[in-house]
Amino acid sequence: MKLSKAFFKTLREVPNEAEIPSHILLLRAGMIKKTAAGIYSYMPMGRRTFRKIENIVREEMDAKGAQEICTSVLQPGELWEESGRWSAYGPEMWRVNDRNGRGFCLGPTAEEVFTDIIRNDITSYRQLPMMIYQITDKFRDEARPRFGMMRSRDFVMKDNYSFDRDEEGLDKSYMEMYDAYSKVFTRCGLTFRPVEADNGAIGGTGSHEFTALCEYGESEICYCEKCDLATTIEKAACVDAKADECEALPMEKVHTPGTKTIEEVANFLGVDEKQTLKAILLETYGDDDKVNGYVAAFLRGDRELNMTKLINALGVHEYAITMADEEKMSEICGCVGGFTGPVGLHDCTIVADSEVPGLKNLVAGACEEDHHIRNVNYDRDWKADIVVDIKNLQEGDPCPVCGAPIKHARGVEVGQIFKLGTKYSEPMGATYKDENQKDHPIVMGCYGIGISRTFQAIIDMPENHDDNGIIWPMSVAPYHVIITLMKPEDEVQAQVADRVYDELMAAGVEVILDDRKERPGVKFKDSELIGIPIRITVGRGAADGIIEYKMRREADKIELSVDEGIAKAIETVNAEKDGRHFFKK
Ligand code: ATP
Ligand code: MG
Repeated sequence: MKLSKAFFKTLREVPNEAEIPSHILLLRAGMIKKTAAGIYSYMPMGRRTFRKIENIVREEMDAKGAQEICTSVLQPGELWEESGRWSAYGPEMWRVNDRNGRGFCLGPTAEEVFTDIIRNDITSYRQLPMMIYQITDKFRDEARPRFGMMRSRDFVMKDNYSFDRDEEGLDKSYMEMYDAYSKVFTRCGLTFRPVEADNGAIGGTGSHEFTALCEYGESEICYCEKCDLATTIEKAACVDAKADECEALPMEKVHTPGTKTIEEVANFLGVDEKQTLKAILLETYGDDDKVNGYVAAFLRGDRELNMTKLINALGVHEYAITMADEEKMSEICGCVGGFTGPVGLHDCTIVADSEVPGLKNLVAGACEEDHHIRNVNYDRDWKADIVVDIKNLQEGDPCPVCGAPIKHARGVEVGQIFKLGTKYSEPMGATYKDENQKDHPIVMGCYGIGISRTFQAIIDMPENHDDNGIIWPMSVAPYHVIITLMKPEDEVQAQVADRVYDELMAAGVEVILDDRKERPGVKFKDSELIGIPIRITVGRGAADGIIEYKMRREADKIELSVDEGIAKAIETVNAEKDGRHFFKK
């Protein structure tokens, strides 16, 4: 492609809505454009990279025997009613009516549609196992769309579904996908870690997230360097503190003016934060969006609440619980913001973290302004409705498997795989007959990759960008080589550039020729910003048959003869273009 004729425009300024490198650089490089909040369009170069990622995904899915289909973005509400998710999915689902008032949604995922597609056609054990997938736009009206296509409202997802006769078959399909995902993300040039994950709203019995490791990610993972434990923070089990064996002392109300936080009260009373009880107040919502209940969660003072664990324990939807309006809650439940304790609370669901009953003589809020109570003891002074692990596994806590100190890392969830079991096949009647003509529900798995999110996560890897722009891995670069022609009006230079261009194209290399009438500085800056892996500069040396050769990833430039430059580029591109060279690293 010749840049002088291309639809191509880079920006000098950093767009102010963008915060993370991938978002800033994609906008600056003119690879994507914002259409509305959380809705983006791909420009030509961005689209090329996008398609390369898509193709890597496609190749690895096909290699596992999965077959590609394509379903409509519009999904009938009836199918979601069959699975019970039409009302359960919540405000993230884009709902639309047809002219007759029939409810549809813009598919946020497609378990129901795929189950429906196979339920009449798969009837016998002989047809199993089977996998089908699609790569299509998904729609989610995210509460906080941000970071460009990392969390957008319209994004492209590859979703694959496996159908097996039993759990054993599912385990096999699941491991095949685990392997395929590892290959996809390796070939895309990501540094990633598969981590055990919560099944969340999708349901089922087991799950892994594939997390690309980078500081800008929204996911937090916990891992152990001594054993293999690696899990999302939502899922991470915790080791409870040992129960205290000391004697329970009598309760004593103390005046603690202005000590609203755990830190303040611990300092004021000269006790360790571990000796205090932290209260977190929440409210839940019914289908009519009205508050239908209050929750007080209690943890040891130095712990953090794990919202996913709490949601699972309460059996509520993620979107149906938020922090409480403390003033309103206090009228009903007797709590006092900053001074809430379990003694004196009423009319709310009390949840205690699993280690709390074992802790003796804690300092807790007195449900009275500026007062706490010393020596609060579980059982004697209060009881919870639910006692369960609701805390985060924090950095340095003992590993639940081997006891070594836990480490934390941040990352981007680029894919997730789930064992669904019969969660959809049972209610939707997707069954097969075994050898004895007996009916069984089909055992399913589902497997998603965020193509749009992967596209961005690649750039956020520290090795894939610098202050000057993107550094694409060859496997996903929009073009392999950029030829920077210094003086398009110089006939010799133009002829050499054309020759390099033609010969590279003939060898199957994807090339851009920057033949714009711009200053060389502008051309160099743009070539760095858009991150093309190899740059061949045709300038003054052209008269002597010399070009300058530079890899975007390296600082060195070398001078080569035109033929050497062409040969070197072809060799490098062929060695790296499918991303399989990453397996050797
Ligand atoms: P998250 O926890 O980040 O909201 P999710 O767990 O809801 O994601 P899944 O339902 O597992 O997402 O979807 C599969 C994949 O689709 C995710 O791993 C992610 O890569 C991608 N994805 C999900 N939501 C978005 C979004 N709003 N924008 C871009 N990609 C997304
Ligand atoms: Mg997920």
